[in-house]
Amino acid sequence: MFSEYLKTHYDWDTTTREVMSMTSDDVERALAKEHLDDRDFMALISPAAAPYIETMARRSKALTERRFGKTVSIFIPMYITNSCTNSCVYCGFNRHNKFARVVLTPEQIEAECKAIKAMGPFENLLLVTGENPAVAGTDYIERALQVCRPYFSNLTIEVMPLPTEDYARLTRSGLNGVICFQETYNHQRYKIYHPAGMKSKFEWRCDGFDRMGQAGVHKIGMGVLIGLEDWRTDVTMMARHLMYLRKRYWQTRYSVNFPRMRPSESGFQPNVVMSDRELAQLTFAFRIFDPDVDISYSTRENHTFRNNMATLGVTTMSAGSKTDPGGYATYPDALEQFAISDPTSPSQVAADLRALGREPVWKDWDRIFD
Ligand code: SF4
Repeated sequence: MFSEYLKTHYDWDTTTREVMSMTSDDVERALAKEHLDDRDFMALISPAAAPYIETMARRSKALTERRFGKTVSIFIPMYITNSCTNSCVYCGFNRHNKFARVVLTPEQIEAECKAIKAMGPFENLLLVTGENPAVAGTDYIERALQVCRPYFSNLTIEVMPLPTEDYARLTRSGLNGVICFQETYNHQRYKIYHPAGMKSKFEWRCDGFDRMGQAGVHKIGMGVLIGLEDWRTDVTMMARHLMYLRKRYWQTRYSVNFPRMRPSESGFQPNVVMSDRELAQLTFAFRIFDPDVDISYSTRENHTFRNNMATLGVTTMSAGSKTDPGGYATYPDALEQFAISDPTSPSQVAADLRALGREPVWKDWDRIFD
């Protein structure tokens, strides 16, 4: 399991020092290579690579077009409950935040499906829940998948980490992908941000990716939350985690996401801030490091920045997102998990991508492949 591998192979502080000591020679060596290792990745995200950002952008664009053509896949999230037993200090759904919790019924989920279909030809749906196994456990998630199945070709979930057998069961009910953010790989400080509930268990979360691979989940999405710990160290650990998973679960597809913290009802202020230029550098570095990985941007990022990055390395985007359960049809005023930055309508997102020479793809999976 990766938590054990992480403990025995990598040290947080050593990694931070290594990234910060990278030189222009290291960057040039990495850029000259066809197949990069984690040290090369560290060079490309280091401050020493900042002057090479144009070169990196060109390489990232070429690699993206070679592997993905000019397509950008579009998805929409559907929050089905904000009930949560965890107390992540940066999240508006934190159990200490007093507000009326919502758990959508199957009928309400179906109403959300219809409202989403009225917004655009969405086929990729991401179902999102808080973490409360008593009211929104595997049975509830399975029922939600069954309700959504007739409306969407591709169903992905972003829910609490599950046992292997539950991932396998949901896969049989139409699940295609699972997204889970480790948030931070800093084991020592993880508990500061996740003080209680199941999410406080670093190993259970970290090893969830192995369980997804063992269950045969078709696509696994990874991410760290930018704003908690040193981002260069966190994304290096994530790149290593991806290398580890690729070796063991080679039939699985992978996506990565680097969500920058947004304002929420929690009032938490980020410990670290990543600039647009740094996020662009990281995106290019990840593409050069792993040409096959799907790089996803959400509406946490603003419209102009998303458009710029859509031609240079990003391959998946959300559009029209609401981060409150029932936000499309049922409870338009429920509490959102975080404030979005890009409220552009799905049709305008697609039109802008076309104007940039990209092909927005609403459907890139069919249930016949299941
Ligand atoms: S981040 Fe997820 S697990 Fe943590 S409080 Fe928010 S909804 Fe719950």
